[in-house]
Amino acid sequence: MVNTNTDDGFVEFDRVQKSYDGEILVVKDLNLSMPKGEFLTMLGPSGSGKTTCLMMLAGFETATHGEIRLGGAEINNIPPHKRGIGMVFQNYALFPHMTVNENLAFPLEVRGMGKAEREAKVKHALDMVQMGVFGNRRPAQLSGGQQQRIALARALVFDPKLVLMDEPLGALDKQLREHMQYEIKHLHERLGITVVYVTHDQSEALTMSDRVAVFDDGRIQQLAAPADLYERPENSFVAQFIGENNKLSGIVVSRTGDTATVKLANGETCQALAVSCGEVGTETLISIRPERVTVGQTGGANTTTADVRELIYLGDHIRCRLNVHGNDDFVVKVPNSAGHTHLVVGEKTQVTWHAQDARALNPL
Ligand code: ADP
Repeated sequence: MVNTNTDDGFVEFDRVQKSYDGEILVVKDLNLSMPKGEFLTMLGPSGSGKTTCLMMLAGFETATHGEIRLGGAEINNIPPHKRGIGMVFQNYALFPHMTVNENLAFPLEVRGMGKAEREAKVKHALDMVQMGVFGNRRPAQLSGGQQQRIALARALVFDPKLVLMDEPLGALDKQLREHMQYEIKHLHERLGITVVYVTHDQSEALTMSDRVAVFDDGRIQQLAAPADLYERPENSFVAQFIGENNKLSGIVVSRTGDTATVKLANGETCQALAVSCGEVGTETLISIRPERVTVGQTGGANTTTADVRELIYLGDHIRCRLNVHGNDDFVVKVPNSAGHTHLVVGEKTQVTWHAQDARALNPL
């Protein structure tokens, strides 16, 4: 069905599947709806299907099944150059024999735009990425970061409806990459453009995006705002993939309202929020973020004795590795103000956390 409110469903994937060999589905039943102006990132491990989705949206790959819509209209059979989509890739793909001005004018020339209008648009796009004075240089005379800015300007020069970026910062060093993340984010905020961005780098996704679609095995595992993904992962894959995570495995022994009581491998029990665990008698994996555990105190619904294995001083906090309920790799971040001096490697301490900070999820 065609969506008439295209501001909400500006880009839509509707039951989209993709197989390259007619057998294996590398994209399995993808449903996604994004509003105009959103910055959405597809994040996931290598091979999870992100680039395939982006290529289907761009028109360089065709969907095996399902419908892709842009602005309410189906685009499955529209060729790439007629979709009005700008693209930026990791390898800038600037023409080396052309100047910056010529590189930017090229997509406008292809669209049959006259010289005066072309020049005005090129100047405007270069100013947008603060590269106005470099118009007469060739790509080889620019740094990696500058070339990537030109690639960005070239994707924006024809006022595309949508901009797609596939690991555009992957070739840059860490410092420049972080700087460019903020630049792209601010450009998005300033221009109100709609962006679909692909990366395998979670900090990049969390920094830049309004929402992140976490991919694994050809499916979206969770689609949510960055803070929700970290604070409220819906399954074990997302809990494990985003940020640091402590795992405790056990069996659900009772469920009351939204709380599950879980019997752990060492025989003790843990109270947790029943998020995506099964019924009584099934296995579950509990996820607890390191900063939600208090060391040296009691008082939460879950309190137990832990063995201190390792203490690492990191300035603002102490990273403690503990043995908790038999998990020898249980990490807790103790703020430097919290009086950690009682902690001694090889000795025992009390640890505690609230039931709502422990999430009972599906087993992996
Ligand atoms: P990601 O971008 O998450 O790394 P891709 O979409 O590139 O994932 O790949 C998903 C799966 O599809 C992988 O198993 C990959 O090997 C396969 N694949 C990607 N492109 C092609 C292609 N052109 N032909 C055949 N298989 C492909």
